[in-house]
Amino acid sequence: MQAGILRGERRALARAITLVESGRADHRGDAIALLQGLKDADHGREALRIGLSGTPGVGKSTFIEAFGMMLTGRGLKVAVLAVDPSSARSGGSILGDKTRMERLARDPRAFIRPSPSQSHLGGVARRTREAIELCEAADFDVILIETVGVGQSETVVAELSDLFVLLLAPAGGDELQGVKRGIMEMADIILINKADGDLKATATRTCADYAGALRLLRKRPQDPEGFPKALTVSAIEEAGLAQAWDEMQALAEWRRETGHWAARRAHQARYWFEAEVREALLSTLKREPVKGAMARLAGAVEAGDLTAAAAAEELLTTYLQRPPQSGTG
Ligand code: GDP
Repeated sequence: MQAGILRGERRALARAITLVESGRADHRGDAIALLQGLKDADHGREALRIGLSGTPGVGKSTFIEAFGMMLTGRGLKVAVLAVDPSSARSGGSILGDKTRMERLARDPRAFIRPSPSQSHLGGVARRTREAIELCEAADFDVILIETVGVGQSETVVAELSDLFVLLLAPAGGDELQGVKRGIMEMADIILINKADGDLKATATRTCADYAGALRLLRKRPQDPEGFPKALTVSAIEEAGLAQAWDEMQALAEWRRETGHWAARRAHQARYWFEAEVREALLSTLKREPVKGAMARLAGAVEAGDLTAAAAAEELLTTYLQRPPQSGTG
């Protein structure tokens, strides 16, 4: 499988993503070995990872299809992945619909993968992170990571990407669509979509509002002059896409040269390592023999035979190899 991925074969890539998404323990071992093997063998291949967030209906799939077709038209290989928290909750997915992006799906330079269905957002994010690494090893140039703007998913996508793009619709009135400040602060580029026909004037006004709001935010060290930036686009008319791409490349280039790119990736690698450890410890708690011991000790605590602290101490030292606390008294 490894050789196929390194040659950029889509079937090998799809199978590898299925492997990393699997919940089976033996698959997990294979996935870990595959990812490490690729890291050793891919000669530091690096894609531009672009996180894209927007509420349902704002035009994400229309934009990704048009933007992706533009990039493949320039000879670039484009992968589209999704982090969909709705798939974590209900098993159904807002972003997984196979009829979306039909043209791009048929493009030999493109690879589209719907969100993995996992029981929680952390699980979805972790699998997506590994899918990103697989796409990178398969020598994709651009990886678009899409999410719906609900809950914590933007934060997660920002931890997965080099650039974070927020897609918004033109807003009537002068309110800033209730976009949370925290989300605004994560954005590198804000795109006001649907800047066409009757909506064009509103889109231009909305864009100016956001440009003003962005200027009021605290300056971030990872930004050159003029960023973060707001632009108008029309996914349907394919207008403004080339300019948006130019801006993304200019920002990426600047961050590469100034070391911010490498620093962000290093920070992310550490973040995911720590998340992985936390996740593994939590799942150890839910498995035997720890699960049974917890139930037994909880019973002793309820009955008043053990204090909470003594019971926790016994669990940690007996089952999780933590050395005993040394008391002074
Ligand atoms: P998503 O839910 O964010 O993926 O949004 P879709 O891509 O499915 O688009 C939602 C609706 O907005 C559809 O009816 C699209 O045709 C429409 N739409 C998307 N992009 C544009 C655009 O650039 N201009 C206009 N006028 N409509 C758009």
